[in-house]
Amino acid sequence: MDIDFSKGDGLVPVIIQNNSTLQVLMLGYMNAEAFQKTKEENKVTFFSRSKNRLWTKGEESGNFLVVKDIQIDCDNDTILVKAEPKGPTCHTGSTSCFKEETAKGFVYELQKTINERIDSDDQNSYTNTLYKRGINKVAQKVGEEAVELVIEAKDDDANLFTNEAADLMYHYLILLKAKGFTLEDIEAVLKSRH
Ligand code: AMP
Ligand code: ZN
Ligand code: ZN
Ligand code: ZN
Repeated sequence: MDIDFSKGDGLVPVIIQNNSTLQVLMLGYMNAEAFQKTKEENKVTFFSRSKNRLWTKGEESGNFLVVKDIQIDCDNDTILVKAEPKGPTCHTGSTSCFKEETAKGFVYELQKTINERIDSDDQNSYTNTLYKRGINKVAQKVGEEAVELVIEAKDDDANLFTNEAADLMYHYLILLKAKGFTLEDIEAVLKSRH
């Protein structure tokens, strides 16, 4: 389906998303010419409303956005570009023009729920009950779930394996909380090794 550039001033909003992390990086506009150039060069070119000309993101900084996938929305008037950024996308030097929290997925939501159950001392929560039994008990549960996962790894029952993997992740999040750490702390360690 072709993009509808006919509405308003001929500009269509373009959401730029990091192809691997799915983090929203920025929003810009394209006219038909910018869209054509983007497809030809495989690098994102906007029509800049402030510069009033075609603007290839990265033209001065070298922080290009290399196109990996282009999607058009349901009524052909918005573009979603998944890109590999060649450096910080924001002119301030930040990875994204938006705060990083926007990119975090379900595991972070689960971490938040777990922390809420514990911080509010929820009496009906299994999470909170386990947490209150202390670090050793929580760590022991992590060990048990890890062993169960190892056992399922030897079989080829996909359902059992994925369920044990989920159990391990859930209990691992409770152990992080019990030790006073967050997924972000672990992420920082992993990033420092990268
Ligand atoms: P660049 O396209 O990265 O070479 O940057 C060229 C100029 O575009 C910068 O000096 C800024 O004025 C502007 N600019 C760069 N990145 C952004 C952005 N994410 N949002 C708005 N303006 C930007
Ligand atoms: Zn739309
Ligand atoms: Zn910005
Ligand atoms: Zn289990």
